[in-house]
Amino acid sequence: MKVKVLGAGQEVGRSGFLVNCDGANYLLDYGVQLSKPPLAPLHVMPKEVDSIIISHAHLDHSGYVPMMYVSGGCDVFATAPTFDLSRLLIEDMLKLEKDMHPFGLPEVNKMMGHATEISFKQKVQRGNSSFELRDSGHVVGGGTVLVESENKRLFYTGDINVRGSRMLREADLDFGEIDLLITESTYSQTNQMPRKESEEKFIEFANEILDQKGTLFVPSFSVERSQEIACVLKNAKFKHKIIMDGMALKVNEIILRYPEYLRDYNVFSDAIHNAVWISSHEERIRELKEPCVVISPAGMLVGGNAVFYLQELAFNKKNGIALVSYQGEGTPGRKLLDTGKVMVQGREKKADAQVRQYEFSGHSDRDALFDLVKRIKGNPKVLTVHGDGQSCTKFAEEIHERFGFDAYAPKMGDTITI
Ligand SMILES: [Zn+2]
Repeated sequence: MKVKVLGAGQEVGRSGFLVNCDGANYLLDYGVQLSKPPLAPLHVMPKEVDSIIISHAHLDHSGYVPMMYVSGGCDVFATAPTFDLSRLLIEDMLKLEKDMHPFGLPEVNKMMGHATEISFKQKVQRGNSSFELRDSGHVVGGGTVLVESENKRLFYTGDINVRGSRMLREADLDFGEIDLLITESTYSQTNQMPRKESEEKFIEFANEILDQKGTLFVPSFSVERSQEIACVLKNAKFKHKIIMDGMALKVNEIILRYPEYLRDYNVFSDAIHNAVWISSHEERIRELKEPCVVISPAGMLVGGNAVFYLQELAFNKKNGIALVSYQGEGTPGRKLLDTGKVMVQGREKKADAQVRQYEFSGHSDRDALFDLVKRIKGNPKVLTVHGDGQSCTKFAEEIHERFGFDAYAPKMGDTITI
C-alpha cells in the first residue's frame, strides 16, 4: 500500500491523500486552502483515481473534489449529509469567489451525478481492497476512513473529535489493529478548556448580557457550530429569545433530514426550533428591537449578516459578542479579539460591546489526540498531518517517545509505503 500526500502536510487545509493499493486507487479528500488566493492540493490526473472518498463537508476536505470532474468522472463516496453539506458549501464558495477557482457549477453537478451515498460501517469492495467510513464526531455526517488491502489496514482520521458534543456522538475507534495511522494534529500542542466549563462560562455571560437588557451576538460557523450553540443554550434551559440567521438555517434543514447522524434527534430538533429563524431583512430588524441572543455566520465575522449585526450591536456597552469559532489570522474576528476594533463602513472603530471568546471546537485537543493514539491497536506507522507551525512535527516526536511508533510529519508530495 502506497500513500502520496497531496496536501495538509504540516499545514491546516487542502487535505488530500492518494492511496494506491492492490486493484484500486483511492483519493481520500481533496480540499481547498481557504487563503487569498485559494490554494489547491497537488494535481492528480483523474485517470489515476478509481474512487474518491470525502471524509466530511468542510471545504478544506471537500472543496476541490469538483476539480476531478473537469476532464474525468469517477465514483465519489460519502455519507448523505456530507454530500448535501459539501454541495451547499462549495456552491457558496463559488458564489463568493467567482473567478478564483478552475471549475464551476457544471463540475459540481457532475460530481453529484457520480455520488454514491454510504453509511458508517458500510464496506465498499474495490478489487482486492475495501474501504468504509466510521463516525468521526467532528461534524454531521463526518467520517474517518478505514482502507484494507494486502493484509494492511490504513486509518485516516480526517478531522476527529474523540469526545463528541451535545449534537454528535464521539468518534468510533472500535476497529481492531491497523498498520498506518494518518492523524490530524490541529490541537496537538494545546489543550482546551474542559467543555463543561466552556459551556458554563458562556451561559453565564449570555445571562449577564440579557439580564442587563442587552443583546448577545454569537458569530458562528454555519455548519455544526451554530446548531451546537443552540443545543448548549437549550440544555442550560436558557429563558431568553434566540434568533438564528443566514446559511445556518439551510444547514438546519439539511441536518433535520438525518436523525440517525445525531446523538439525540429530539434534543437537536427542540433546540433549533426553540429559535426564531430569520427569513427577511424586515424580520431581522424587528426581532433585534428586543434583547435576544443572535446566532449567525460568519464565524470569523467575514461577510454575511455578521457585518449588519456588528453595526447594530457592537457600539452599545450593554451588548456582548461571544466568539465561539476558531479565529484565523487576518480575519475581522481575530482583529476584534486582539485590538477590540471592528471595521464598519470602511472605518475602523472601537467596539463598546463586551467581547469574550469560548472554546467549542469540533476537533480533539492535545489530551484527546494522545488518548486517540493510545487507543489505536497494533504497531502502526504514524503520519501526523493537518497542523500549523510545529504541531505536526512535535506531535510525531512525542508519539514516537511515548508509544515507540515510527511517526513523522510528511511534507506535501511525500510518498509513504507500508
Ligand atoms: Zn473539518
